[in-house]
Amino acid sequence: KRKPIIAGNWKMYKTVSEALAFAQELKRAVDGIKEVEVVVCPPFTALYQVSEALRGTGIGVGAQDVYWVDEGAFTGEVSPKMLKDAGCSYVIIGHSERRQFFGEIDDNVNRKVKAVLESGLTPIMCVGERIEERESGITEKVIRTQTEAGLAGLAADQVAGMVIAYEPVWAIGTGKTASDADAQQVIGFIRGLVSDLFGADVAAKVRIQYGGSVKPQNAAGLMAQQDIDGALVGGASLDVPNFSGIVKAAA
Ligand code: 13P
Repeated sequence: KRKPIIAGNWKMYKTVSEALAFAQELKRAVDGIKEVEVVVCPPFTALYQVSEALRGTGIGVGAQDVYWVDEGAFTGEVSPKMLKDAGCSYVIIGHSERRQFFGEIDDNVNRKVKAVLESGLTPIMCVGERIEERESGITEKVIRTQTEAGLAGLAADQVAGMVIAYEPVWAIGTGKTASDADAQQVIGFIRGLVSDLFGADVAAKVRIQYGGSVKPQNAAGLMAQQDIDGALVGGASLDVPNFSGIVKAAA
């Protein structure tokens, strides 16, 4: 049985003091919930202090991106080693906003996933189709390409321990959630791909989240689907009542 994982992707929101206030409130709100793993992904600037504030609570901290080298002359980049040092255990990789606005490509997603795994952190690798791809009936082709490229060259046990997030681009920040059945269909397809590539045991272990306009009101239906193991939450992860409501819906 896979443990659901609810991760909040704060994107480019919250100052350090706002992040700390959130962490204190979240601690109280999810105290005692053991059956769901809870992760927050603040901007880089707040990672260290949020990690310190959440130390010992069981709530994990993740970054929203990473570079694939541990140190060097790479102005503006942050390494897996630095993220670990700042208290992270997760890293979001290949988010559609990185792909759309910052030139993220599948090859680099793969480099980042590998480097993160090698450093002992857990990647949350994002895949998802755009609206025009869904409308032209190539959703599975797009998902296959992104998933195969992102996981290329990994060992089976590495894939078993990671998290994949299916985030249809048309559902992100739009209020248009995928239906429970549509989300389950694509996530089942991803699990099938993992099974073909790495074996049924790995497919039974890898956790696959849904992301895109997840709210407390639609979370329970999504989480009840057999292949959906949690959520990657954007907008609704920015305030504690909404985020903890989603955590409770997954419990
Ligand atoms: P929203 O929950 O705001 O749609 O964002 C989803 C997302 O991109 C999480 O990574």
